[in-house]
Amino acid sequence: MTSNHSILFEQDEPSSEQKDLVEISKKVCVEEINAILKEKKHQIATALKVCAHCTLCADSCFLYRSKEKVAEHMPSHKFITSIGVIYKKKGKVTMEELYEMRETLWKRCVLCTRCSCPLGINIPELLAIGRRILRSQGVYHSYSEN
Ligand code: SF4
Ligand code: SF4
Repeated sequence: MTSNHSILFEQDEPSSEQKDLVEISKKVCVEEINAILKEKKHQIATALKVCAHCTLCADSCFLYRSKEKVAEHMPSHKFITSIGVIYKKKGKVTMEELYEMRETLWKRCVLCTRCSCPLGINIPELLAIGRRILRSQGVYHSYSEN
């Protein structure tokens, strides 16, 4: 038999959406993000400059091929809309933006390193830098969303 105490405990447990709302209201530490950006500046800046938006990397990603080839799953789109945005904003992003990037950096990529770019851009490494920045701000993949 379930006691009243355990019923109350289960009801009081916040949902993952409620927890996310609390987390999104926190401030990011721009200095901490910039320390990582400084370390990887050459790699990120070169990739953003060199990318010709040719889409040739698209079919090398099994997730892109298996998700009806939507742009959000294209390797170049994933790094440009995550680490690319953080870099261009010089680390001045909101926690809400980082939470939105969580989807791209974990759900849309498994860092399998199978994608290839004829111009030599190492896309998985760029996405891994994005994950590192999110983790530095306490933003992690939520396994309950799988
Ligand atoms: S990452 Fe490489 S293959 Fe993909 S769009 Fe950019 S230049 Fe083309
Ligand atoms: S590393 Fe990510 S983007 Fe590249 S092929 Fe694997 S899942 Fe796709």
